[in-house]
Amino acid sequence: AANQKSSFIQKVSGTRAFFAGEKVTARRRGAFTSREALKILNLAQKAEYIWYDGSEGSEAKGLLFNEMRSKTKVIPDSVPVGGDFPDWSFDGSSTGQAEGNDSDCILRPVFSCPDPIRGENHVLVLCEVLNPDGTPHASNTRAPLKAVVDKMDPSEKPLFGFEQEYTMLGKDGKVYGWPESGYPAPQGPFYCGVGMESVYGRPLAEAHLDCCIRAGLTISGINAEVMPGQWEYQIGPAAEFEMPDHVMVSRWMLHRLGEDMGISVTFEPKPVKGDWNGTGAHTNYSTASTRSPNGGMEAIEGMIEKLGKRHAVHIAEYGTGNEERLTGKHETCDMNTFRYGVADRGSSIRIPRPVAIAGYGYLEDRRPAANVDPYVVARLLIETTLVL
Ligand code: ADP
Ligand code: MN
Ligand code: MN
Ligand code: MN
Ligand code: MN
Repeated sequence: AANQKSSFIQKVSGTRAFFAGEKVTARRRGAFTSREALKILNLAQKAEYIWYDGSEGSEAKGLLFNEMRSKTKVIPDSVPVGGDFPDWSFDGSSTGQAEGNDSDCILRPVFSCPDPIRGENHVLVLCEVLNPDGTPHASNTRAPLKAVVDKMDPSEKPLFGFEQEYTMLGKDGKVYGWPESGYPAPQGPFYCGVGMESVYGRPLAEAHLDCCIRAGLTISGINAEVMPGQWEYQIGPAAEFEMPDHVMVSRWMLHRLGEDMGISVTFEPKPVKGDWNGTGAHTNYSTASTRSPNGGMEAIEGMIEKLGKRHAVHIAEYGTGNEERLTGKHETCDMNTFRYGVADRGSSIRIPRPVAIAGYGYLEDRRPAANVDPYVVARLLIETTLVL
């Protein structure tokens, strides 16, 4: 807070010459709230419009590990966070979302938050992509989630905790921090590790955590993962739109901060072949029924039965290249098997030990790959357990 204040005062004094008819003394400056001062400064707002191009894992498009897009809109009269940001458009032929002869796609703002990188009154604006006629674009997976949410009993208030794993890559395309030739020591000391010999890339993981907190995202933690250079953060517990919206902004933030640190981020499910852990997105899920001390565990078991019957449907949409990860090794269950168990990290669905002890709470769906579309996970879990 102290830092923020001093840079703010510098800004005010630095631009004093622009104040027409408003003499700002040192004494008065201290009395401004930042919002009032920004109004006096008439500081145009930078709104970073962010969207998902839907190309997740598409090797054909050469976009294997970055499906986030964004561009900046300058808004002369600052719109408050959560306010009414205008629609915008982009050239869909340059993102694999349209043909060149009919290339305009519409960006419709759905979620906004402070931009912790630019600071001041600047914002991040997450958008849905629409066709020119206003219908949802094929890459828009938020609209189908809405259709399913409209059919569920809202009193079930689903909550999601999304464990986003990712792998850092250096400029040479190798896992960040790995030796130039050969491999690091075998897996063992890296998960939740500490020390230069075990942990690679912490400055990016920390900067990302700080930025997510400052943006007001529901981030709940970070940890170094089993493969060195692999990390995890968790979004949640958060509601059905809040979870995927926050996951999308947090993914964008990771790519963006990586630019400044010479690190790129991949959500590929199996970035290093062989005896190295893959990269997943375990999704923890609960409803009012599973969270109830009266019958919570029965509700969890009822859900697991329904999930078992739709295993193939979920697997088909749980991320591109997930078959390389769900092998039955490295803390996964084989893709063609549906298994559940208490505290079982080799299962498809795990009931955490504390949940089993309490008799209510949530389940963990361990199947989604790191590159899964979080709107799709939310839609499938709600559809299977609350709608069908
Ligand atoms: P793991 O032991 O599998 O690594 P983590 O601590 O990484 O677990 O992640 C657990 C996630 O579950 C967190 O994101 C947390 O917010 C979330 N969570 C906790 N309680 C609930 C709940 N009732 N419903 C949904 N998600 C929950
Ligand atoms: Mn242009
Ligand atoms: Mn975890
Ligand atoms: Mn993990
Ligand atoms: Mn987990």
